[in-house]
Amino acid sequence: MTLLGIEASAVKALVFDMDGTLYENLDYYRFQTSSQVERLATYLGTSQEEAYRRFENARAARKAAGLPPTSMANHFLALGVDMPTIIRWREEALIPGEWLKPDQKLDEVLGTLAKRFRLALLTNNPRSVGTASLQALGVERHFEIVVGLDDTGMSKPSPEPFTALCRSLGLPFEACVSIGDRKDVDIEPALALGMGGILVQGVEEIYSLPAYLGIRGL
Ligand SMILES: [Mg+2]
Repeated sequence: MTLLGIEASAVKALVFDMDGTLYENLDYYRFQTSSQVERLATYLGTSQEEAYRRFENARAARKAAGLPPTSMANHFLALGVDMPTIIRWREEALIPGEWLKPDQKLDEVLGTLAKRFRLALLTNNPRSVGTASLQALGVERHFEIVVGLDDTGMSKPSPEPFTALCRSLGLPFEACVSIGDRKDVDIEPALALGMGGILVQGVEEIYSLPAYLGIRGL
């Protein structure tokens, strides 16, 4: 775990990703894909297998073209689904309370971090799903703002969500650190704007953030 882009002394806000960063749950990740591919199949008038094949082909085509991975929302846009529909499908299908439970250790860690930094969530799911995820984890009170897919109609790795979040906080990019589990989606676009970035393997590394950032005895 390394803070890239800016000095620790410059950090005023920590901008967290949700999935794979504040929790890990393979079954929920799979459901987040399968529930949306199911709706895509109905929309395209194909079988679920065919819809999944097209989604996987879109991912493979980017890789073959030497392009970095992008969000599921961007793949769905490329397959002809409009953003309001993408947002609605997620709001309908994703009930975080059915998948996530309170994480007491995360609550303590975020409480410690919140004494020193302003905390924000930047998620590629709709804002309501992000907020419900924080509630399900029992950590919502530590977060000052949540920015989701419906706030800009764009998803990470596009710069717009990062820009909207820093603007909402009223802070320059150079005072904010994006913390997430995907280098191409959470970290590189943030660094390109002048934000800091911390790539994590998962929630275990979040638990050690206070020590890493030099916070003790708070
Ligand atoms: Mg993630």
